[in-house]
Amino acid sequence: MPLLPPKFGPYGGQYVPETLMPALAELEDAFISARADLAFQREFDRLLADFVGRPTPLTYARRLSERLGGAQIYLKREDLAHTGAHKINNALGQALLVRRMGKRRIVAETGAGQHGVASATAAALLGLECVVYMGAVDIARQQPNVFRMKLLGAEVRSVSGGTQTLKDAINEAIRDWVTNVRDTHYLLGSALGPHPYPTIVREFQSVIGREAREQILRELGRLPDTVIACVGGGSNAIGIFSAFLSDPEVELIGVEAGGEGLASGKHAARFGDPARGRLGVIHGTRTFVLQTADGQIAETHSVSAGLDYAAIGPEHAYLRDQERAFYTAATDEEALSAFQMLCQTEGIIPALESAHALAEVIKRAPTMPKDSVILVNLSGRGDKDLNTVMQHFH
Ligand SMILES: *Cc1c(COP(=O)(O)O)cnc(C)c1O
Repeated sequence: MPLLPPKFGPYGGQYVPETLMPALAELEDAFISARADLAFQREFDRLLADFVGRPTPLTYARRLSERLGGAQIYLKREDLAHTGAHKINNALGQALLVRRMGKRRIVAETGAGQHGVASATAAALLGLECVVYMGAVDIARQQPNVFRMKLLGAEVRSVSGGTQTLKDAINEAIRDWVTNVRDTHYLLGSALGPHPYPTIVREFQSVIGREAREQILRELGRLPDTVIACVGGGSNAIGIFSAFLSDPEVELIGVEAGGEGLASGKHAARFGDPARGRLGVIHGTRTFVLQTADGQIAETHSVSAGLDYAAIGPEHAYLRDQERAFYTAATDEEALSAFQMLCQTEGIIPALESAHALAEVIKRAPTMPKDSVILVNLSGRGDKDLNTVMQHFH
């Protein structure tokens, strides 16, 4: 069977120890054969419908559109997917591949716990053993998600090396995978890592774009002018962008975490800060990474844990070079204010990650004509963020 392209222009590839190469090849084979297998597709579609609750709705944001006085705004409601965000689409798809490969155990990394919860959920559904690596600092600040994972039957292993956060958890998950690769799959949570992960994750998340494209065509009989999504590793963005890549008239905008502002150095804007966001290799892939002057992985900051990572998925680097997609940043403050505006105009409490996409909508919609259309990916719901938000609004 023909293999998948391992790179996106100069980005991506497979920078892993020799011992992992057979596992990556096995994963690629399993994915290619699953994609061609009607029974696999049918089972995945059935789970997306009956378990995840897809298709998620497309909601016209009438009051938000009126408030901003320009473009008409439509929300793709990934916040209504089971477990509260888009991550479950990918976790379920990979968990089905694990069963197909005859493995019985998954390891996953998690920062805020969202991908850990999605992985633990998929593992429980399919009867797989699940170990989630999480930095000790993250465990302390994300107790509700730690408890959720345990309720779902997963083991949460605390990582005390490095800064005790996401990148250290990824290192440990990879170490476990290398050691137990015969019966273990590494369930990677974003459009990152060595080939074939970025492609597999994009394909499992492409359901967002396929649905949204069909829904907006049915509702308006036309495509949106602009599609906006937040970009952590880049999975929800590539999931919605993928359906519009061949429509050059549709503008694609990714929004990174601007933290306390690009000049502060406290952010996660890999593209937005060219002095520190440079080409490098991280966790198996070649892409833009926030680095210190001597090439160490820089510390990042964002009010939203899901955007707080030093690297961006390699396909986004490629789309940016091609000028097919454009990238900008929203600060913590802009995201918090967008968060509040969506709550009060639409009765929807968004995830702080998604609020970054909304912050860009707030900047852009007023400059666009009233008959133009913005489609925004509401990647998740905000229940998980209430503690953080409470500390900012008092
Ligand atoms: C994890 C997460 C993100 C960021 O991850 P991507 O891979 O960039 O999509 C965005 N929104 C929500 C709600 C998340 O949980």
